[in-house]
Amino acid sequence: MNHQYLRQQRLYCDWFKSFTLYTVPLCVQMTTSLTAVKTYERLPKNVIPQLYKLELNPNLENFTFTGKEDVEVSIKESTNQVILNASQLEIQEALFKDPSGSTLKGNVTLDTKDEKVFIKFDESLKIGSGTLSIAFSGILNDQMKGFYRSKYTTPSGEERYAATTQFEAPDARRAFPCWDEPAFKAQFEVTLIAPKDRTVLSNTEPVQHVQHPDKAHLQIVKFAPTPIMSSYLLAFIVGEYDFLETITKNKTRVRIYTPVGKKEQGQYALEIASKSLTFFEDYFNIPFPLSKLDHIAIPDFASGAMENWGLVTYREARVLADPKNTSAINREQTAITIAHETAHQWFGNLVTMDWWTDLWLNEGFASFMEYLAVDSIHPEFDIWSQFASYAALPALKLDSLRDSHPIEVPVAHPDDIDSIFDLISYEKGASIIRMCHDWIGDEAFRKGLHNYLTKHAYKNAVTQDLWDALEAVSGKPVGKVMGYWTKQKGYPVIKVESKQDGNNRIIKLTQRKFTVDGTLNDEESKVQWMVPITIITSQDLNKVALSALMTEKSTEITLPNVTSDTWVKLNLRLNGFYRVQYSAEMLKALAPAISTKQLAPIDRLQILDDQFALLMAGQVSSAQFLEMLSSYANEDNYVTWVAIDNCISKLDLLLSYTDLSEKFAKFGINFYSKIYNELGFDIKDEKSHTENLLRSLVLLRLAKFKYAPVIEESIKRFKAHVAGTPIHPDIRSAVYRAVASSCDDETFNTFFKLYRDTDLQEEKVRLIQSTGSTGDLARILQLLNFTFSPEVRSQDAWKFIIGTVGTKLGREEAWKFFKDNADEFKRRYGSHMANASLIEHLTNGFASEEKYKEVESFFTQNSFSGHEKVVLRSLEMIKTQDDWLKRETDSVRNFLESI
Ligand SMILES: [Zn+2]
Repeated sequence: MNHQYLRQQRLYCDWFKSFTLYTVPLCVQMTTSLTAVKTYERLPKNVIPQLYKLELNPNLENFTFTGKEDVEVSIKESTNQVILNASQLEIQEALFKDPSGSTLKGNVTLDTKDEKVFIKFDESLKIGSGTLSIAFSGILNDQMKGFYRSKYTTPSGEERYAATTQFEAPDARRAFPCWDEPAFKAQFEVTLIAPKDRTVLSNTEPVQHVQHPDKAHLQIVKFAPTPIMSSYLLAFIVGEYDFLETITKNKTRVRIYTPVGKKEQGQYALEIASKSLTFFEDYFNIPFPLSKLDHIAIPDFASGAMENWGLVTYREARVLADPKNTSAINREQTAITIAHETAHQWFGNLVTMDWWTDLWLNEGFASFMEYLAVDSIHPEFDIWSQFASYAALPALKLDSLRDSHPIEVPVAHPDDIDSIFDLISYEKGASIIRMCHDWIGDEAFRKGLHNYLTKHAYKNAVTQDLWDALEAVSGKPVGKVMGYWTKQKGYPVIKVESKQDGNNRIIKLTQRKFTVDGTLNDEESKVQWMVPITIITSQDLNKVALSALMTEKSTEITLPNVTSDTWVKLNLRLNGFYRVQYSAEMLKALAPAISTKQLAPIDRLQILDDQFALLMAGQVSSAQFLEMLSSYANEDNYVTWVAIDNCISKLDLLLSYTDLSEKFAKFGINFYSKIYNELGFDIKDEKSHTENLLRSLVLLRLAKFKYAPVIEESIKRFKAHVAGTPIHPDIRSAVYRAVASSCDDETFNTFFKLYRDTDLQEEKVRLIQSTGSTGDLARILQLLNFTFSPEVRSQDAWKFIIGTVGTKLGREEAWKFFKDNADEFKRRYGSHMANASLIEHLTNGFASEEKYKEVESFFTQNSFSGHEKVVLRSLEMIKTQDDWLKRETDSVRNFLESI
């Protein structure tokens, strides 16, 4: 599954120093009240499904469905009871037929809390085989999970509904009774009964297509059996679509399904989808096993995309691209998303994690592999540099919190499974795989993956299986080293000191756990990692001067033949998942390499991000940090600017709680104006992808600082846009935000008019998210109320609400709106990431004791099941931010007044 939308928000928070006001016992008490233990038992393995013959008949008018299934099962141990999963289903009948033909009727009990169904028989089922036949019915819900409905408008303007599925994780049980755990792999033979004028799709090709014997308006479509796979990868869809197609060199048919009349919007996706498929077939050296791979845009879709084997589903904005209206960043996200889902066809679909504890095997790998594919298709994206800002930095931030979790995380209850689809599984997972890839080398990595995927094909695997495969090929102790990174949470900061000894440079490295507040309790001070270290020097920028495995807490390394004027830098290209704390001298020596851009952009980014994290942890002073920042005055690389912008944005947020807001805006305008003067508003080169991303970033920040030339030019361009001269899509978001922050009522309402006029989802999201930059109370309330109107799809509402948190007033009002409508948010999104994202973004911008108590008290009284950790992390952040303000405000004031 893909959560690119989280990345795109770029609203990750930074987290800082601990709150001295709140004592440890308070935290302990708080932790226990917000994290009650949920007990849950997995399904027994005495009865195993082999083949589901599943027939479903959705009713697109009253939003119900009926279904029946004949499941061929193996009875491994004699039992008089079969336990499987079901949720929100009614079961009319359950029968068991053994090979001799005798039939037993089952007595059915449902456990709604644990989402299980118990079928009891008067006699024991004997070891061997048999068929379990179940008749059932359910609801085509509006919650974007299980078998659900999605509204669309036909070209003639009629509103209709499609029926579609989202089964990860774990919601196949809402569509049919099943063994809904990844280790119960089976084949599925799907039959759908649907109106004749609709397109009917599933994982495989149709093998039979007939008229319904009794109902003239219905068709019956039977699909070929799927490969052996987990239930969460099944999909079926009934709707109306156009499609484009191509055949890859290995003769797989790739199609992009779009809304009717919008075929051309699938052109870009088709190119990426077919190239990605070929790339991975070559990289893994394993052919794609199905004859077709469809990608389809679904108007209502909870996450970014879902890798159903042979039928990948997407939210529209992640797969459709309109040449006139799609921005560079959205095209990039589309490419990344399609590559991610295509990588899953092997990592996840062919070989699947045994249980959700190893979810990262799917998500971390797909999140790493997506970059390999996009880099080969679009080298101009400079995507590996962007890996830092999309993956490594957000993961380093989250994983510095005490309420982070290890990559391999025990999960039991269904409510908790959604909560691990987070930055740790995706981005920390991808980051440590990148570290391992760099450490063992591409050739060994590739061979190891081939062996792993071949050995476990159509089966399940655990983390150790992967390490074993990589270890066998590379000859390096992969399992031992990587265990440090997957079994324990957090990561180290490596303190570096250096001294010259004749022609040698002696480097002393000391590791300790990096924590958001810079403090370590007894347990944390004992933790350590095995760290693959790389060192570069100014003597040869293109060659690693030394690679080593750091196995102790402290070690000394000698670099021979290094002159005293040579600088030394650790962690080339941020390949390792750790921070570096240089001595003051070493940092000073690196400053010219930053300002002259001798160091690569990603190395420049890394030094700044590490320094900022150390500032927030109280290990570096504001004066030291701001002096370091001045080395970036001539910066012109997009990737490095992302790190600069992260720091500026966080400081801006925190200082909004002080009287320094205006002074800081002035400082910010000054800092950004050089690059603004170079870039301006107009796109100079359509092909310069990263320059166009940088222009948008600079305009956005200057608009936030209310920089008059940007606001005035934006208003001028917006008026022309409304009159028919479109704003270039690459700067549209920035211009919209600038206008929405400083316009009159009539112009503000134009955003809503444009929203109604466009049918491109990307544009709809851009328009309404931009209105969140208003600082006006009446308009914030207008926007918040709009999000719950029938005009807004549930999949977008939460994103629009998050769009308001850029201003202090917006943050406050959005939080109030969330509290007032808590029950509706629970109903709409339940344990899904949308609620996690809302909780995170609406609360972790706060920075006071009062807010800490308010947030804690609210969630103690209003439990959001599955999101307990998110609440704890927000509380940790609020505490640390308050403490940072108390500690650093005066020092920042001195700096701002001295310039
Ligand atoms: Zn995924």
